[in-house]
Amino acid sequence: MDILFASPQIQQLVDDIKDFLEEQILPLEPQLLHTPFRDNLPKLHELRQKVKHRGWWAPPLPENHGGMGLSLTEFAHISEVLGTTPYGHYLFNCQAPDIGNMELLLHYVSNNLQQQFAQPLIRGETRSCFSMTEPEHAGSNPTVLSTTAVREGDEYVINGHKWFTSSADGASFAIVMAVTNPDEESTYRRASMIVVPTDTPGFRLARNISIMGETGSDYASHAEVYYEDCRVPVSHLIGQEGEGFALAQQRLGPGRIHHCMRWIGICERAFDLMCRRAAEREISSNSYLGHQQFVQQWIAESRAEIDAARLMVLKTAYGIDQQGAKAVRNDISAIKFFVADILQKVLDRAIQTHGALGITDDLPLAYWYRHERGARIYDGPDEVHKASLARQILKKYGLTTRKS
Ligand SMILES: Cc1cc2nc3c(=O)[nH]c(=O)nc-3n(C[C@H](O)[C@H](O)[C@H](O)COP(=O)(O)OP(=O)(O)OC[C@H]3O[C@@H](n4cnc5c(N)ncnc54)[C@H](O)[C@@H]3O)c2cc1C
Repeated sequence: MDILFASPQIQQLVDDIKDFLEEQILPLEPQLLHTPFRDNLPKLHELRQKVKHRGWWAPPLPENHGGMGLSLTEFAHISEVLGTTPYGHYLFNCQAPDIGNMELLLHYVSNNLQQQFAQPLIRGETRSCFSMTEPEHAGSNPTVLSTTAVREGDEYVINGHKWFTSSADGASFAIVMAVTNPDEESTYRRASMIVVPTDTPGFRLARNISIMGETGSDYASHAEVYYEDCRVPVSHLIGQEGEGFALAQQRLGPGRIHHCMRWIGICERAFDLMCRRAAEREISSNSYLGHQQFVQQWIAESRAEIDAARLMVLKTAYGIDQQGAKAVRNDISAIKFFVADILQKVLDRAIQTHGALGITDDLPLAYWYRHERGARIYDGPDEVHKASLARQILKKYGLTTRKS
């Protein structure tokens, strides 16, 4: 199937972006990795201007909104190459959660709200965050939420406690999932998404949560946030009341492809570093690490696993482009846990191959090891996706409900 290979135009774009990253970003990576994200902003801003200048800005957005108008399958190839450096997606303004928020706002809010929130975000002048998970409830079942948005006149009054609101530090606004319709019978119809500017009185960023010893800052952070009598106009509602989970579902399919291809990019970079090290590291006279069978096994298994993962994700992206996310929901579940697992394995092998160097910040491996352990948890824990996929399969065998 030629959908699994990039068209000549997209392949050219991939090659050009690869050259750009190799020339402009990789030499700076060690310095960037040793510096808190906020302190890197001036340098990153400068690099973003170069990306914009080359016409590579926000690749998955429509051209009339300042993007490159790529289809999901086309963007998948770009997401992979951007994933080879921790700064790739940010520099091209297609980083999560902003890109998902841009797409939501472009589809489901008024022109006024688009001007106010979507356009500055697309231009890269602002950032945003997505605030759903609450520490008091299992995030794996997000229909259980305590955060409420109560309508008073022309305003919503929002109260709640969230955490793991990624990138809230420095964001201009949050998209908050809050219960607006508590009496709806279906738990899937009770919550709504609402835009809350972070300078709204009552929006309180309590802390950036320390993760594996790193608190992070600005874009590279995960915040605990309180909403305390936060008042926003009712016009800040995205879509209709009670549509929060339906909108979240729509955001999920393309978002999953972006993440999975980014993870494959990380795998490719880790693989490249592992192979270079195996070929260059002499462990005794005329014997190199790559002569060891266990390293050869890591290399061979990683190659096969990364290639298998890419084929699965591209097939899923193509399915979404052609039939919509609902039709390929099983594939969307499968790529989540399959690729996240391969990511952990390949990263771990690459680190082990490098010995002590592997856990330093002189290479990006340790950064990814810290930041991407969460890949098996965020975007739905792997176990939830496995259970969901198995249930769908077993339905075809006549097993519908749990037997007590
Ligand atoms: C790096 C990172 C970034 C994040 N960014 C955001 C963000 O920007 N905005 C936001 O709102 N949230 C964000 N989250 C939160 C994320 O969505 C939740 O952590 C996730 O949904 C899991 O919820 P939980 O942590 O409450 O785990 P729980 O729901 O308590 O689950 C704990 C564990 O139980 C198991 N489990 C749970 N349910 C089932 C089941 N049905 N079947 C089998 N096993 C199960 C799984 O192993 C799971 O890991 C982020 C999380 C991480 C790690």
